Amino acid sequence: MKGIFPIDKFRELRTPFYYYDTKVLRDTLDAVNKEVARYERFDVHYAVKANANSKVLTIIRESGMGADCVSGGEIRAAVKAGFPAQKIVFAGVGKADWEIELGLDYNIFCFNVESIPELEVINELAAAKGKVANVAFRINPNVGAHTHANITTGLAENKFGISMEDMDKVIDVAQEMKNVNFIGLHFHIGSQILDMGDFIALCNRVNELQDRLEARQIFVKHINVGGGLGIDYDHPNRQSIPDFKSYFSTYAGQLKLRPHQTLHFELGRAVVGQCGTLISKVLYVKQGVNKKFAILDAGMTDLIRPALYQAHHKMENLTSDETMQTYDVVGPICESSDVFGKAIDLNKVKRGDLIALRSAGAYGEIMASGYNCRELPKGYLSDEFV
Ligand SMILES: *Cc1c(COP(=O)(O)O)cnc(C)c1O
Repeated sequence: MKGIFPIDKFRELRTPFYYYDTKVLRDTLDAVNKEVARYERFDVHYAVKANANSKVLTIIRESGMGADCVSGGEIRAAVKAGFPAQKIVFAGVGKADWEIELGLDYNIFCFNVESIPELEVINELAAAKGKVANVAFRINPNVGAHTHANITTGLAENKFGISMEDMDKVIDVAQEMKNVNFIGLHFHIGSQILDMGDFIALCNRVNELQDRLEARQIFVKHINVGGGLGIDYDHPNRQSIPDFKSYFSTYAGQLKLRPHQTLHFELGRAVVGQCGTLISKVLYVKQGVNKKFAILDAGMTDLIRPALYQAHHKMENLTSDETMQTYDVVGPICESSDVFGKAIDLNKVKRGDLIALRSAGAYGEIMASGYNCRELPKGYLSDEFV
C-alpha cells in the first residue's frame, strides 16, 4: 500500500486499467447531496458521458441523482443501471431518429432540443406513437468560460443550442405543436470551470431571458443550467471533493428562480473525476539526446485528455521511493501527441514500476479507443479488492 492504493492487488492485474476509489466517489456524492439539500427545488442529474462504467453508474444511481444522457447508448446504460426513466434527460446536437424513439418508448423526463428541425422530428415521432414529449430548449447564451477552447460550448460560434434571437420563435413553434410539451430552458457553457464568475455570467443571462419571456406571459417550469464545475487536477489528495458549496450557493444567490420553478444541474466531471486513477506499468526507460523518457504501457488510447486538451494529470510512481528524477512520460502509440507530460518529476523509474495517473475518473475510460488494435482498459472498483 502506498498512500491510498492497494499495490499488491495491482501487481496481480494486467495493466493498464482504471481504478475507482468508491469511498471518494461516495463522499463526493454525499457532499453534492448535502449542499443540494440546503435549497428547495434543486435537482441534480449526473452527466453519463463523463463515465459510464456500469459499476460507477450504479453507485451514482443509488445516491438518488438523475441521469443526463447525450445518446441512445447512454439512455440504455442509464436504464440498465436502474435510473428511473422519469429522471433521465436527453441532450445532444444530433439526435438520430432511433435515439428519439428510444427516449419516447421509455417515457424519459425531457428532451433538450437544439434546433427547430429537431423539434419537428420529435413532434412527428411522438405523434406516430400517440405520445407527447416534454421538451426544453437548449439556448446558446453566448457566455464564454475561462477554460480550454475545445471545451467551451456556450459561445455563439459553438455548434450547440439555439441562439437567443431565435428563442421566442422556437417557443412559438413548439406551442403550436400537438405532440411536444414545452417545459423548460437548458444551458451548458463548458467544462472544467473553476471561476464562479463564469457561472454568474450565465445566471445573469438566464435572468434576462426569463424577464423577456415573462413580459410575453410565458412561464417555464424548469431551468437547467448544465454542468461544468471543474476539479483540482494538481491536488487530487488535498482537494478530492470539489467546492460544491460555492457552486450551488452561487446559483442560489444569483439566479432569480421563480417560486414555481425547479433548477436542474448536470454535473459530470465534478462527480467522478477525482475517484478514478489510470494505473499503468513502465515498459522502458530510454535515454534521449537531452532527456529521459519513461515509456508506459498506457497511452492516448486509454486516456486521451492530454493529447486532446493539453490536459495535465498528476503522475506518481507507486513502486519507488528513490530520489526524484525528471522524465517525459509517454505512451506506446504511434503518434507524437501520445505524451502524458513533459519534464515530470517522479521517484526514479525502472522497468516494471507502476505509474498512477490521477484524477482520471472523468472523460478517461469512456473515451478509450481501440486505435493501434489495442484492447480497451478495464475498470475496477476498490470495493472489489476487499
Ligand atoms: C458534457 C455535458 C455536461 C457535463 O459537463 P461536466 O463539465 O462534465 O460537468 C452537462 N450537460 C451537457 C449538456 C453536457 O454536454
